Amino acid sequence: MKNKVVIVGGGMVGAATAIKLAKQGASVTILEQQCIDPHAVLTSEKIDIRISAINRFSEALLDELGAMPLLRENRIAPYTQLEAYESVQNSLLFDSEEVGTSHLGHLIENSLTQASLWAQFEQWQIQVEQVDGLPMSITQSDDTVTLHYKNKTYTADLLVAADGGRSQVRHLVGIGVTGWQYQQSCMGVLIKIDAPQQTKTWQQFKQTGPIAFLPMHAPYANLIWYHDSAELARLKQLSNEQLKAEIQSNFFALPGDFSVEEKAVFPLSRQHANTYSQGRVVLVGDAAHTINPLAGQGVNLGFKDVAALAEALESTDDFGCPLALHKYEKKRRLDNLAMMSMMDACYFGFSNDIKPLKHLRNLALKVADNAGVLKKQVLKHAMGGDF
Ligand SMILES: Cc1cc2nc3c(=O)[nH]c(=O)nc-3n(C[C@H](O)[C@H](O)[C@H](O)COP(=O)(O)OP(=O)(O)OC[C@H]3O[C@@H](n4cnc5c(N)ncnc54)[C@H](O)[C@@H]3O)c2cc1C
Repeated sequence: MKNKVVIVGGGMVGAATAIKLAKQGASVTILEQQCIDPHAVLTSEKIDIRISAINRFSEALLDELGAMPLLRENRIAPYTQLEAYESVQNSLLFDSEEVGTSHLGHLIENSLTQASLWAQFEQWQIQVEQVDGLPMSITQSDDTVTLHYKNKTYTADLLVAADGGRSQVRHLVGIGVTGWQYQQSCMGVLIKIDAPQQTKTWQQFKQTGPIAFLPMHAPYANLIWYHDSAELARLKQLSNEQLKAEIQSNFFALPGDFSVEEKAVFPLSRQHANTYSQGRVVLVGDAAHTINPLAGQGVNLGFKDVAALAEALESTDDFGCPLALHKYEKKRRLDNLAMMSMMDACYFGFSNDIKPLKHLRNLALKVADNAGVLKKQVLKHAMGGDF
């Protein structure tokens, strides 16, 4: 008999989980609050301000799931260089040539990644149901798990929570989280830029928080601006012309003249679930961990969860088997924690003006830039593994 899997949340991670488990023989249903028409999204000219740096591990997974070929035909931007600065004199440059590869990753609009996965559902007979309202409770027996809505119930062998950082499923099974809300938020600014396709993404660490330039498919790019919430609230209510002037006086010169198209402010939180499973319920992606977006690793960690979960279920007949779910957690927890801690060390280490620390980190950037083998290892880790 086929394993029955219900997934709450059809974002990038939930959608990838659905295809991966359907490919392993499961009968999959996704419950989603905001269903999309993937073909309409893939052909739309509307640019999504939410973008993600998709690393090489995630690219390989998206290839395996059939999504990457669709994305390659669409608006994606490969990047070959990644530079971190404190000042022009102190920078650390990662270059794809150093590890003998064509690119480090792609910058892709989240809606396109999600839609390219949804476009595969028909082929794998994945059912999608639009749900209104939150699930109210979850009950479990030795063999099944049941999700209860006001007027409907869903019973499965495995229930996957892919419903993001504020996961209701996680809450219903009583899994707590440790973490905090950062003092700062970050603003994403979608710009249209008069320059050829850019392949270098950069980030500058300033005392007020990091700022970053993320090239998108020309003529667009995304700017990320960390600051305290009051300052971002002020910037957000400026006209696009006024915001452009603020960008010009706070960012390094951009590669061409530009116009501000859209802006959005995102709260920042770090959150880690105390356990990744409870009986036949398992957490993936942001439902299990949310990370400071500083180095663009959130969804990449989520895609690694998907691969690890599928691997843990490969050798079992029962996809809800708690032992297999523990195996998945064992594989992912430390890796997720390590990445979260590394991001925080960079974030807190750089966002201040303490003199000895400033001296130390400038030295660290210089040493790291000449660190040969170590630098290559860091780069490979950021790409998601060996490529
Ligand atoms: C500013 C910013 C920049 C980022 N940049 C990067 C980057 O460069 N690279 C990177 O890897 N990551 C990045 N991230 C992180 C990345 O966006 C997240 O890690 C990723 O979106 C998580 O995907 P997910 O599918 O787990 O959750 P989500 O994207 O939150 O998706 C959850 C889905 O579940 C649905 N849902 C929620 N509740 C319910 C419910 N009760 N019932 C049914 N459906 C429900 C939602 O509608 C949604 O479709 C960034 C994040 C931010 C804020």
